[in-house]
Amino acid sequence: MDRTNGITLHELTKTWPQPGGAERLTVFSGLSHTFPPGSRTAIVGPSGSGKTTLLQMVAGLEAPDGGFVEAPKAPELGYVFQSPALWPHKTVRSNMRYGLGEHLFSGADPLEEARYRDILQALELEDLQGKYPATLSGGQAKRVSLARTLVTRPSCLLLDEPLGALDGALKDRVLDFLLEWVHWTEATLLYVTHDHGEARRICTRVLEVRDQGLVEVG
Ligand code: ADP
Repeated sequence: MDRTNGITLHELTKTWPQPGGAERLTVFSGLSHTFPPGSRTAIVGPSGSGKTTLLQMVAGLEAPDGGFVEAPKAPELGYVFQSPALWPHKTVRSNMRYGLGEHLFSGADPLEEARYRDILQALELEDLQGKYPATLSGGQAKRVSLARTLVTRPSCLLLDEPLGALDGALKDRVLDFLLEWVHWTEATLLYVTHDHGEARRICTRVLEVRDQGLVEVG
């Protein structure tokens, strides 16, 4: 993998409009930070502090009011949204394969096919391939959403509470796989979570959104 997959935030300011014409809410002010290529960083902080807003700006889905973001371009970014956002009219299999393009449906590329199988197995989705999103539990939908992103092997992974709906042993297994996967691909990881234990298991640094910026927590 090339090593151009770092992320740099330059003096970012972001505000949101408030209902009733109240003064705009400032979520970030003058935020600068560098996430080196292949680094694994957890972003923690209370609900409403700005974690999702930060990922949206990194992904280019929201523009900052001031400053700019340097990040890999869209086809190299994998973003798992907080809500699974699966295509409701597609099966689990089609949801996963959509990102890889139609050639996979013919089984023409054995390597891609093997990668697809590995992810399916590791995320324990094999028995769900023919199901539609409406029939999945929250945890299942979340795993499909993660799988759909991993099959594209992004060089930069933005994960917003990816294991939020999973419990106990399954969560541990998925965390182990994710860590292995990130090591293997050398992807740069930004991992939003409420769970400090989870943050420390998968990431080497933990940053908290605080005072309209990011503060390293020990
Ligand atoms: P977190 O991910 O830490 O829970 P968010 O980034 O979702 O926090 O939200 C940070 C703040 O910005 C919250 O006060 C939220 O209400 C506000 N906010 C987020 N998105 C929007 C939006 N599209 N319009 C207006 N306010 C928003």
